[in-house]
Amino acid sequence: MLQEPYPELEAVLEMMGEAGHHLAEIEASEGAAGNLSVCLRWPVEPRNHFPLMGEIKLPQAVPELAGAMFLVSGSGRRLREILDQPTASIACIVVNEGGKTGILYTSPHRRFERVTSEFNSHLAVHYDQICASNTNFHALIHAQPMHLTYLSHIPRYQDEQYLNTHLLRWQPETIVNLPEGIGFIPFRVPSSPELMAANVESLRTHRVVIWAKHGVMARSDVTVKRAADRVEYAETAAKYEFLDLSAGGQGEGLSMDEIYSICNTFHVQQSIFQRQS
Ligand SMILES: [Zn+2]
Repeated sequence: MLQEPYPELEAVLEMMGEAGHHLAEIEASEGAAGNLSVCLRWPVEPRNHFPLMGEIKLPQAVPELAGAMFLVSGSGRRLREILDQPTASIACIVVNEGGKTGILYTSPHRRFERVTSEFNSHLAVHYDQICASNTNFHALIHAQPMHLTYLSHIPRYQDEQYLNTHLLRWQPETIVNLPEGIGFIPFRVPSSPELMAANVESLRTHRVVIWAKHGVMARSDVTVKRAADRVEYAETAAKYEFLDLSAGGQGEGLSMDEIYSICNTFHVQQSIFQRQS
């Protein structure tokens, strides 16, 4: 939830560019992989940046979000290039009354036909989160970080408890930044209704979820860069785990006592690391 003064459209577009650029720097968006979207719920004039108008049918009805603005990356656009000229890669959708359709605002510089094919998943999660929390800002990122995705191919990491107790043991900050841990969704076909539904469910209780054998989705109700940070924290944890696997399991990892001390000091509520009674 953001407080006034709200960021200008220009600043939000620039942050989407910076987030996209950083995701490319951490090797989480090869080629045109990955997509991002944000939802703004304060009055914003789109036409200075996006003067062309059309109408689109939304992937699902979102009546409570009438008037909300979505900024969404275009299908086939490269996240690393958003920063160069955001309006070439991003579309703006303002939800119409009734929530079944929206006005699609785009720029004459637009270099895409449609918004990302994962927009159904983005919209469903935005809708679910905003209806639950009534936040006026919500950002989502889908990216494909290599080490997290690789680990999701190894059967024992497909268990959420095993995944989290192994990934969150390498740095003190990880449990602080991801106190609910990392969610895990078994493989679902990209853009499918099954992926969409599993994603909504898992993001209710996590800030970042792995889409098995594909990538991740992360959310934030503060900034799109915060969502990108969550991708990076989870990927860094996976890098340590991968390093440890490659080194033959030499690392101790933080002990249970060390993790408890960190959680006590930083007042972290977590249920991942539990002492056996
Ligand atoms: Zn993908």
